Amino acid sequence: MQIENIVPVQETVREWLRKPRHQLLIGGQWVDPVAGGTLATINPATGEVLAQIAAADAADVDRAVAAARTAFDDGAWRSMTPALRARLLWRIADLIDAHIEELSELETLDQGKALYVGRWAEIPMAAEQFRFFAGLCTKVTGDTIPSSINYQPVGKRVAAFTTKEPVGVVAAITPWNSPLIMHAMKLAPALAAGCTVVLKPAEETSLTALRLAELLVEAGVPAGVVNVVTGLGPVVGAALAAHKDVDKVAFTGSTQTGRAILDGARGNLKKVTLELGGKSPVVIMPDADLDAAIPGAANAIFFNGGQVCVAGSRLYAHRSIFDKVVAGVAAIARSTRLGHGLSPDTQMGPLVSKRQADRVKAYIDQAVADGATLVTGGGQKGPAGTFIEPTVITNADPASRIMCEEVFGPVVVATPFDDVAEVVAAANDTEFGLAASVWTQDLSAAHRLSSDIRAGTVWVNCHSFWDVALPIGGFKQSGWGRESGAGAIEKYLEIKTVCMVL
Ligand code: NAD
Repeated sequence: MQIENIVPVQETVREWLRKPRHQLLIGGQWVDPVAGGTLATINPATGEVLAQIAAADAADVDRAVAAARTAFDDGAWRSMTPALRARLLWRIADLIDAHIEELSELETLDQGKALYVGRWAEIPMAAEQFRFFAGLCTKVTGDTIPSSINYQPVGKRVAAFTTKEPVGVVAAITPWNSPLIMHAMKLAPALAAGCTVVLKPAEETSLTALRLAELLVEAGVPAGVVNVVTGLGPVVGAALAAHKDVDKVAFTGSTQTGRAILDGARGNLKKVTLELGGKSPVVIMPDADLDAAIPGAANAIFFNGGQVCVAGSRLYAHRSIFDKVVAGVAAIARSTRLGHGLSPDTQMGPLVSKRQADRVKAYIDQAVADGATLVTGGGQKGPAGTFIEPTVITNADPASRIMCEEVFGPVVVATPFDDVAEVVAAANDTEFGLAASVWTQDLSAAHRLSSDIRAGTVWVNCHSFWDVALPIGGFKQSGWGRESGAGAIEKYLEIKTVCMVL
């Protein structure tokens, strides 16, 4: 594991980190939190403090929401022509691209991920979110609707139509696993719709949100349209979820926090969208192309250290190929190079924090204590105890915690099956319903399984195939609503019906 001799970070990143980072973006100004609180943000690979960020509280949330409300109510943003808003979103995308090396390094330092994850997947996708929704700015339209009432007013005509208006002030609350893309998935449709936003990034990984905020200002986003408030979830996130002047919460995070958001939101019945946890099955049929399916199953769980909402954490392989699949995935696990995310050799970085690594390790130990078989991995290592070896487990009880709960780490549990009905029942035996993948060459099996598995996305012969044009979100307790895809903008719009008797 290479931790000591990491490649040096870019000078621009070093310089950026040297400046004080403990401010909030409110109403277009960088301001100190009212109570002056700060919070250390840690490089999980080494355990070193990277920077101090502001630990805001409810008073700062009040200021940020007031700024977003003013920017919404004064009408300048809402009445900006859709074409101009589109250009602004496009400019944001171009600025992300122009700073991609810097943003990727910052994300790796803050989150731990191997550099390629941010550089080649998440950050280009963040830019694409802004481009995709830039295209939708000019396509927000209503309908003209013929009146169907039986007794029309005598001598009059009825004209009715709908318009779509921005929902108002949006609180965007995001998790730590893939920060920048999560911010983009909320900011892009919200801004395209004409909403104003208070963004609250995860306390573990706020740095790229702060850098993105600087780029938004540089792009020309008007003061108060996007505000960034860093701090602890139960303080800042909870204050936003409960705030009476917030019209909508767009949340991505754990199912447990999703429930807390709902409780907070009930006071003013604000609109809520939730992108929550998962326990996604990977189903490998006997006829599958194993040269694709085995690395596909490994990547489904080990990419980004398994800290992916759609991670393929339950692997079901047909009994006739089970041993070969398990051996193949375990071989990939053993050969995966762990190290500092900035090291060019690194395939998997640390988990986001010691706390998360301890949590994942406890799941592994519990599974073994419950009688499951540890095929490979299971170790916790590194100078800060944040690295978890890619882990493969078999013989787990379907009712055990490792099979039922979201681990959010590089841990897969493999189980054999004998027929399609059995694997459909097993795949659906979960309170989650975020995603699944099916590996087969058989068209009817592909259709049958993609129809019968209850999940928001079913991939066939691929997993984690992200595309801004494709909706993503969960059935069951994996969430409410969808992000990405053209329909996502609707979650930031209200329909207004206008009915005229003329
Ligand atoms: P988390 O729920 O702990 O935190 C998410 C965000 O909520 C953070 O900004 C946090 O500060 C804030 N928060 C925490 N407590 C809060 C409270 N009481 N009120 C309001 N806000 C609060 O999640 P996490 O550990 O940061 O992220 C991992 C989770 O995110 C996993 O469950 C994962 O599946 C999920 N996730 C889902 C998707 C998806 O698209 N469905 C994508 C990425 C991550």
